[in-house]
Amino acid sequence: MKKHVVLLAAVCLAVSAVAAFAATDALVGACIYKFDDTFMTGVRNAMRAEMDRQGGELEIVDSQNRQPMQNDQVDAYISKGANALIVNPVDRTAAEPLMNKAKAEGLPIVFVNREPYAEVMNAYDKIWYVGAKAEESGTQSGQIIVDYFKAHPEADKNKDGKIQYIMLRGEQGHQDAVLRTEYSTKAMKDGGFEIVELGSDTANWDKVQATDKMKGFISSSGIDTIEAVLANNDDMALGAIEALKAEGYNLGDPAKYIPVVGVDATAPALEAMSKGEMLGTVLNDADNQGIAAVKVAVVAADGNAVTDESIGYTITDGKYIWIPYRPVTVENYKEFMK
Ligand code: BGC
Ligand code: CA
Repeated sequence: MKKHVVLLAAVCLAVSAVAAFAATDALVGACIYKFDDTFMTGVRNAMRAEMDRQGGELEIVDSQNRQPMQNDQVDAYISKGANALIVNPVDRTAAEPLMNKAKAEGLPIVFVNREPYAEVMNAYDKIWYVGAKAEESGTQSGQIIVDYFKAHPEADKNKDGKIQYIMLRGEQGHQDAVLRTEYSTKAMKDGGFEIVELGSDTANWDKVQATDKMKGFISSSGIDTIEAVLANNDDMALGAIEALKAEGYNLGDPAKYIPVVGVDATAPALEAMSKGEMLGTVLNDADNQGIAAVKVAVVAADGNAVTDESIGYTITDGKYIWIPYRPVTVENYKEFMK
């Protein structure tokens, strides 16, 4: 009898251990606004790695920067029986039809990186958003410039007590472009500096476009008048640095240096920091955004409640997972190199 009890207990333990480690068999369908985006490639790789750990199936397709194509991709996932969707919308203002497609099927849908309007988020109970508070990254990048100007009075080249800067903005209408621009300039003012915008333009998150725009600003303003460059992401910061290097700037001569800050902390940006070409950036945590998106999708696809405990991230207002930003400077950039 005693033997049987022990045996039964052992069997129960074994069964529950299997249950605890049971891999999901969920099929998650993901669409990325375009594969050719440095930051989203990081998110994509993190999603893939997390699903490998979870054991489910993750399909990821390239929406090639075309919203109609993405809408078709979502339809295709639904017809093939996906259990949850992860969408990085091409146009965040066009997320409503995607939400409606998911809602019609009762399918969980997780938006990432491009935040749908609140009314879309509030129109369905199986919708989540994984992203980062753009205000934070704006404030942190502006603060890096403030700290630099306080430590290096010579950075105020014309000695007028003001910071003459160039702003390179991300894609029009993207919450990160709007808020990073607003909050980085606010941080410089809050830091006690008067600021003068010598030029501001969108370069659509793109390095090549940023080099072109920066070359234009150099010819219109004159390189001697530019005291700082703020870019809404690292690819554009690196594009601006190409234009500066073509003028012999940011190559090691302290007399020929313009501080440049970006956002993301991509590998090439950290590399540029290690060479002294770039002043700083802000970690936009691609790993945790990718992991959180897959965790939410899998938990919801398996029919379980999405809670702080079940996904391992804090959920705000029942549907927002905000991954914090972190300032990256010469003091700590090595921590972020992989
Ligand atoms: C990143 C950019 C990226 C964009 C794509 C932003 O959060 O900082 O590098 O191009 O998202 O939507
Ligand atoms: Ca000045």
